[in-house]
Amino acid sequence: MRLLLVEDDELLGNGLEAGLKQAGFAVDWTRDGRSAQLALATTGYELVVLDLGLPRVGGMEVLKALRARGSDLPVLILTARDTVHDRVAGLDAGADDYLVKPFALAELVARIRALLRRAHGRSSEVIRYRDLVLAPESLTVTRGDDTIVLSGRECAILVDLLEHRGTALSRARLEEGLYGWNEEIESNAVEVHISNLRKKLGADLIKTIRGVGYLVPRDRP
Ligand code: CA
Repeated sequence: MRLLLVEDDELLGNGLEAGLKQAGFAVDWTRDGRSAQLALATTGYELVVLDLGLPRVGGMEVLKALRARGSDLPVLILTARDTVHDRVAGLDAGADDYLVKPFALAELVARIRALLRRAHGRSSEVIRYRDLVLAPESLTVTRGDDTIVLSGRECAILVDLLEHRGTALSRARLEEGLYGWNEEIESNAVEVHISNLRKKLGADLIKTIRGVGYLVPRDRP
């Protein structure tokens, strides 16, 4: 799950970047609206955390431009502007949620998870597949009485595959959700995570589609 963080305050941006990574997201951090627009045009994100008061191009302009080109990418505005007028303007411009500074990191993470669930048409925190129940928040899969613990990246890959079940996802596509700009991509990382997932959850869960990528089959009706 790769997020774009747009925040010009260094101290807050640093804390947010670290906190969101800790919560299991890959994070790219831009400090002005122009860089945010460039990042949005070139990288696939699951969600944007957007400050409003930004250098070069303001957050509202970034949001309006995104919606004007038909993107339904979830956007959470994070701002010190706390009047009712500001909130209404932000939501009317197409924001999906609005959180006022100062805020608690735990609340921001919970709201991000809620938006991502909604974006994938889920109403609950767990993802069910056959006899498996995946709880991304606790990085666990339960199967009957067994609880299997996943690493953050194993969990991210499994969520991605389960949310696109029936569709093969390429290695590059899966990698994109695992790493931000400043992180070195370990070679074969996706293969290693897939191999670990198969060891933990059974060899038949994730199929390899030669030359294409990986796939979790659709549930049988
Ligand atoms: Ca700002």
